[in-house]
Amino acid sequence: MKKERSYQKVIMKIYADNAATTKMSRTAIQSMLPYMDKVYGNPSSLYTIGQEAKEALEDARIRVAFCLGCDPKEITFTSGGSEADNMAIISAARLGERKGKKHIISTAFEHHAVLHTLNKLKREGFDITLLDVHQNGLVTPEQVAEAIRPETCLVTIMYANNEIGTIQPIAEIGKVCREKGVTFHTDAVQAVGHLPIDVQEQNIDMLSLSAHKFHGPKGIGALYVKRGIRLTNLIEGGAQERGKRAGTENVPAIMGMAAAMEEAVQNMDANTKKLVAMRDRLIEGLSQIPYSELNGDAVCRLPGNVNFCFEGIEGESLLLLLDDKGISASSGSACTSGSLDPSHVLLAIGRPHEVAHGSLRLSIGEDITEEEIDYMIKSVAEVVEYLRNMSPLWKDLVSGKRQHIFLK
Ligand SMILES: *Cc1c(COP(=O)(O)O)cnc(C)c1O
Repeated sequence: MKKERSYQKVIMKIYADNAATTKMSRTAIQSMLPYMDKVYGNPSSLYTIGQEAKEALEDARIRVAFCLGCDPKEITFTSGGSEADNMAIISAARLGERKGKKHIISTAFEHHAVLHTLNKLKREGFDITLLDVHQNGLVTPEQVAEAIRPETCLVTIMYANNEIGTIQPIAEIGKVCREKGVTFHTDAVQAVGHLPIDVQEQNIDMLSLSAHKFHGPKGIGALYVKRGIRLTNLIEGGAQERGKRAGTENVPAIMGMAAAMEEAVQNMDANTKKLVAMRDRLIEGLSQIPYSELNGDAVCRLPGNVNFCFEGIEGESLLLLLDDKGISASSGSACTSGSLDPSHVLLAIGRPHEVAHGSLRLSIGEDITEEEIDYMIKSVAEVVEYLRNMSPLWKDLVSGKRQHIFLK
């Protein structure tokens, strides 16, 4: 008897969560392989295979530094963006407290690697000012200037926001800090490889980056620190990284990071042009969904970032149904200990709790096609309608029992 064939529904597979992590590029993978099976020596060893690894490591440092416009001595390799953020902030705080300066300025919508480190310092007696973020997802150099006090030891403001993609006026903020003699750190994890960076031109004293956000490997990053600023060790041990970060260097990952960074910088213009066109097509399509709004400025945003709020739905269900349609996306709300906390970023730009819960981030990659963009628009529209039809909250909005938050 002939077996009946079961047809699997053909769906597209679209990865639209590049702000969470990216697929490694072939170049990055290829550049790592020799350092796993041939040049596997410990860079601290004196024999040839160790010294070859050491040479590669220092060459990678030169290449990373070149991409940022700094000196190789100003680059410290870390385990990623979180460690770089911790190291930068703790170092500036330790330098500050020695001079009796225990005030730090940041914003309400930083990454948790920054916010949680600041909370730790607050418990130690530091005074932390978190600047309000405007509705468009931007802070201004004027806000920074007004907040700086004689006892301010650090300003830490992210380059581009990981949820809503808005790009801060980093060079101008850096200028304010430099004029007032305050150290300026920026979490540039979302920016490196995607936006032009020159730490000197932009008056940046410290900058964090992470390879897996620009098609490099996970678990590797770097901190740029302007010469003259003394780092505090977070990890004690050997004398690696000029004694500032103990532990045998992850040579393969560092090679992958350098290659991915060079590739991203070389292709930046072409990638940006393509991504902006795709992003704007997606924004235009999603704007047609009733009672939806884009989060963050439409222009001053990362080329690949789209983030919307939809009234009357809940982000987590949206994600699960989009996953059924082959789309990997992200929502602002994170399920913590059973309760759904809306995104601190969306709350910071003034979104009320009920719409902050209904958020969706689509962060597209360079290989996205128009067909995929149109499939995402259609899928999101379908899923939003489906969820609204089941939602008691939406019924109240339709019947007028509850007021709409968005105009249309
Ligand atoms: C991803 C991310 C980090 C954390 O980087 P890891 O390498 O994952 O530790 C920090 N800040 C921002 C803005 C990020 O997007």
